[in-house]
Amino acid sequence: RVKLQGRNNYKLYHPAINSQATELFILENSLHHALERQEFKVYYQPQVNSSTGEITKMEALLRWQHPELGLIPPATFIPIAEETGLILPISEWVLKTACLQNKSWQQNLNLPSLSVAVNLSARQFQQPNLVDMVEQVLSETKLEHKYLELEITETVAMQDVELTRKILKELDQIGVTISIDDFGTGYSSLSYLKDFPIHALKIDQSFVRDLANGDNQTAITTAIIALAHGLNLAVVAEGVETEEQFNLLRILECEVMQGYLFSHPLSSEEATRMLRAYHPIDTPP
Ligand code: C2E
Ligand code: MG
Ligand code: MG
Ligand code: MG
Repeated sequence: RVKLQGRNNYKLYHPAINSQATELFILENSLHHALERQEFKVYYQPQVNSSTGEITKMEALLRWQHPELGLIPPATFIPIAEETGLILPISEWVLKTACLQNKSWQQNLNLPSLSVAVNLSARQFQQPNLVDMVEQVLSETKLEHKYLELEITETVAMQDVELTRKILKELDQIGVTISIDDFGTGYSSLSYLKDFPIHALKIDQSFVRDLANGDNQTAITTAIIALAHGLNLAVVAEGVETEEQFNLLRILECEVMQGYLFSHPLSSEEATRMLRAYHPIDTPP
């Protein structure tokens, strides 16, 4: 059988597949048909307000269920999708699916202010018609613009700051919100950050993982939270797995958290069940 390993460094243990080039070829080939064959699924992971316990937002995370190779993680197939340009139709489908899902949760579960966050890829960000595409999807799905958040990684945001400023301004003007993902892993110029019309910084999970691992390990997280508060931005901690991390982050006044402690990413059906059953009082600790 086939086994996927690591993040980018996947390995397929299959007798018929004996070189990495062949593996890549197979993945790339099947990626071309994955959309039409309905092999993608959007999973959702809640973001939780750490003082009220309320679920304010769900992040959409893409999954690829390959018929022979099994579940392939985004870290493996997104780079291939980027290189081949397939990321564009795939991303549009993710956006549409996530907006429709959020609209349905707002209406059917009586959660009128629930938002959805969707990750943007580097290639998408360079697409001249990105803003039109987003507007088109929002009007088709009838989701109010302010309930959509788009996440761009710090690295993508800093690649071409003039382009970033222009696109973020346009996205801001149509009323969607923007957050900076994996914050702390790229090289932000803080003066640019101040000028971007962004809503939130998402602290990369590598810093959250280090919390409670000993002295000095809180320094970066503390600094990012202070920076966000100083710039009047919301701050979200990613990858919160333990109560210890949760408690430390609360002391550091991080309002919003996301991670396995609250919930793994869930299928649409599981997420619906979770949202239906959820009551803020159940939040740990
Ligand atoms: P990301 O946007 O930073 O998403 C967070 C990742 O951390 C997700 O991995 C999530 O499953 C994982 N995670 C959440 N909580 C925890 C935790 O407590 N512990 C640990 N160890 N991990 C946690 P996933 O779903 O494998 O996605 C990886 C990356 O792939 C995402 O990072 C994002 O950059 C990209 N990605 C996922 N879906 C999409 C998509 O639809 N479009 C684009 N362009 N990129 C996507
Ligand atoms: Mg993200
Ligand atoms: Mg992240
Ligand atoms: Mg990431």
